[in-house]
Formats: sequence, structure tokens, C-alpha cells
Amino acid sequence: MIVYIDNHKFAYEMENLVRLFLPNEKICISTDSPGSMITSYIFTSMNINEQIGNAHIYVRVRTDDFDETSVKDIIIDVDDFEKKAERTMAICLYGLLCKLTGKTKPWGILTGVRPIKLFRRLSDEYGTLYAEDYFKKELLVSDEKVRLSSWTEKNEREILALSKPESVSIYISVPFCPSRCSYCSFISQTADRAKKLIEPYIDLLCKEIVMTAEIVRDKRLVPESIYIGGGTPTILSAEQLRQLIETVKNNFDMSVCREFTVEAGRPDTIDSEKLSVIYEGGVDRISINPQTLNDSVLEVIGRKHTAQQMYDAFKLARTAGFKNINTDLIAGLPTDTADSFSKTLDGILTLSPESITVHTLALKRSSRLNLEGHNVNTDNSRAAAKMISICMKKLPQAGYEPYYLYRQSKTEGSLENTGWAKKGFEGKYNVFVMDETHTVIGCGAGAVTKLKDPVGNSLTRIFNYKYPYEYISGFEEILKRKEKVRTYYDGLS
Ligand code: SF4
Repeated sequence: MIVYIDNHKFAYEMENLVRLFLPNEKICISTDSPGSMITSYIFTSMNINEQIGNAHIYVRVRTDDFDETSVKDIIIDVDDFEKKAERTMAICLYGLLCKLTGKTKPWGILTGVRPIKLFRRLSDEYGTLYAEDYFKKELLVSDEKVRLSSWTEKNEREILALSKPESVSIYISVPFCPSRCSYCSFISQTADRAKKLIEPYIDLLCKEIVMTAEIVRDKRLVPESIYIGGGTPTILSAEQLRQLIETVKNNFDMSVCREFTVEAGRPDTIDSEKLSVIYEGGVDRISINPQTLNDSVLEVIGRKHTAQQMYDAFKLARTAGFKNINTDLIAGLPTDTADSFSKTLDGILTLSPESITVHTLALKRSSRLNLEGHNVNTDNSRAAAKMISICMKKLPQAGYEPYYLYRQSKTEGSLENTGWAKKGFEGKYNVFVMDETHTVIGCGAGAVTKLKDPVGNSLTRIFNYKYPYEYISGFEEILKRKEKVRTYYDGLS
């Protein structure tokens, strides 16, 4: 679909909106006019008339069997004219796309990944009722998602209050997995292929952690939360896990760290020896992620474990002493149904994890699913929407509340990812990262450091090399880049 942009700067927003409705189409942006031979396009324009003080917004959606326009005039003499004009054009386009596809979107014209951040900004400025009303009337967000946003924002707020100007969080990347999930677009490498790299990788990663901790100490920063993620960190041997966790423990001031998480992603990589290394190492939160408890779906998505292995792994983790366990699920997996998802959720609830994160399947470009031609489609989207509604009903009944939420592009049904937790067990790292509350220092391949100005809103990014082999061969450069963290904080003092 070609989207023509005439006389305005809202191309990015219009493209994102079109992508919500036509997720599988190639979208091209053009600043030309549609020639007479082009029969399928979207035309968006804004004409400002200074003399009468208004802007005329015009949107036309044309395909072989659809041709409608939507127009609106707005006055230009308002404080936030550009924003208002963009929103007005988005509303015009949204209405036409709803008609064209026969669908509405749960998040209305909101396309950003952090709706809760926007909700909070509105709430802080004008109050919660205003924020709810704005989401509903100005952004066309559904009642269910307005409720979810308001509830999530309230819970998030308590966690954000813990962050101080000197707070930082630490992310440590172990980008290896036992096999590749069909929906994965991450750089993670299967351990079989990367076996030789794991040992040298961990040695260097530990060096980077030591250097990071030195900077954190020197600059008097407070490591609020530390997260070892991946990939699947528990792919490491017990000895390698010990080396990694001891390095963290011996170099950061753990007495001030509020949360130390290890992602024990795949149930089939966990055993009691690894769990006790993790537990004895002071890790107070782990995440065991089955994604589904339906064995045939597990097979389809390329995870080489069964539902039973999840139950066993969870039991082992409790026996090892863990009192804060998260489980990740995905709504909208191929071949999964609302009924089977509901059974998965029931199964997870019998385990009573402290938190449950429910993602919606996102069809990323480099995932196997996408390459095999699996598309976002109406049936899957409808099933995913039902699954998310089941969560909205069952999780609060079981004592869970939403505490963080984000969106991704190309998700089934344009739905969201939500972290649910029992009171007091919210994953703080998740909230800090999603809100961009404070600096997050990344260590390891693929990790990104985001330096957050403690008084302003600016973010400075430092990228590590993406792949383990690059990380190993270019490690000197990694250390040089890490020095920029020190320089950044030197500049603030
Ligand atoms: S466990 Fe996560 S990182 Fe590893 S292959 Fe699956 S989706 Fe990718």
C-alpha cells in the first residue's frame, strides 16, 4: 500500500497506523501525488489557511472496491497545534481503515510501545479521570484497555517511586539457547552451534561486569536491580553460572540491590544443582517460561520440552528455596486455541507463581514463523484477543494485578504484553526498563546501555556488539565503549 504524504510531517504515525490494519502488506511512503494509474493508495494531506486560521485535514483510502474520504478542519491557534493536527489526521485515517477492514483496534490510534508512560504524563498533569477520558475519546482506546492502563499505571507508580537520581539497573546478557523458538527474532544462538564460544564468552562477560561495577562504585551509583537474561542463562553449566553470579555478587553492593533476577527460561535447562547455585548466589527472583502447557503447541514452536518438565522444574525451584518465581506465557501461538490457552493458564495457576507475564505473539521479520509465511491474520488475532480476555478475567480473580505493560509491532490483534503479579512481587527491573526511569547498563553481546539524565529526559545509548563471536573478538572495543559510562557521569558532576 502506498501512503501519500502531502504537506505535513506525520508520515511515521500514518505508516504505523496503516501497519496496524494491514500488518502483512508492504507499506511505501511517498511525497508525490498518486498518478492516474495507481488505484490502491492512501492519500493524506493538510492545508493551512492562515487567513481564516484553520487547517484542513483530508484523508482518502482507495482500493479496487473501496473509496472513501474523511475530512476535518481544526483551528491553528492552539498551543499544541502539531499534536492536535496529527491526532485529527490519525482519527480520520483510523475511521476509514476500520471501514475498509471491518475491524477496530483495542488501542485505537495509539501506536507507541509505552502507552502507560503517556497515561502517567496525562494523569500527572490533569488527573486520572482526565487521562482515562483522553485515552477513550481522543485516542479511541477500548474500555477494557483504558481500565487496564489505569490499573497498571497505579501499580507501576509505587515501583517508580523507589528510583532515585543515583539509581541504575544492570542487564547481563547470555545469548545462547538450547534450540530456536519459531517466533524468535533475537540474536540468541543455539548452544550446539556456539558451544565453543560459551566459555570464552563468560570469561569476558565477567571482565565487563567487573569494570561496570567499578564505574558504578566510583560514581556512587546504586544498583537497584540486576537482571541476567538472554537467551537462556540456565543453558550454562552450574560452574559457569557460579562464576557469573559470584562475579556479580563480589563486585556490586548487593546490600542496596532490591532485586536480582535470573531468567531460567527453558524448563529443560534447569536442574537442582544449577538452582541451588543460583539460590545460594543470592538471586531472589527467577523466571521459568513455558509459554504454553500444550505439548503439541510446544512442539510446533520448536521448544524441546514438555509441559510436565515445566511442572517438575517449578517444583525443583520451590524445593531449592525460591519464593519469587515468574512464568511467561504467550497468547496467539500457532495452533493454540482459546480453550487450550485457558487450560494452560489454569495449569500455571495451580503452581501459584508470584508473577505471570502474558505476551502476545509478535511476528518479527527474522523469525522462522515469519520466514515460513505465517501471517498476522483475523482468526489468530481473534483467538489471541480471547486469550487476553481470559487473562483479564482469571488473573485478578486469582489475586494478580497488572504492574507493567508494553506493546510491540506486528502482534496478533495489535494486543499488548502485560506483567501480572501478586502484591509485593512485581518485577522492578521490568518497570524501570519499560519506563526508562533510570540508567540501565548492559553487559554482554547484544546489550544496550541507556544512560538516562537523572534530571531531564534525555537518553544516550551505547551499543555492545551483537553476536558472541564479535563480542569476543572485539572485546577491547567493548571496554572502551564502557568507559563512556564513566565519562557521561563525570560530565554530570
Ligand atoms: S528462549 Fe527466547 S531467546 Fe531463546 S530462542 Fe526462544 S525466544 Fe529466542
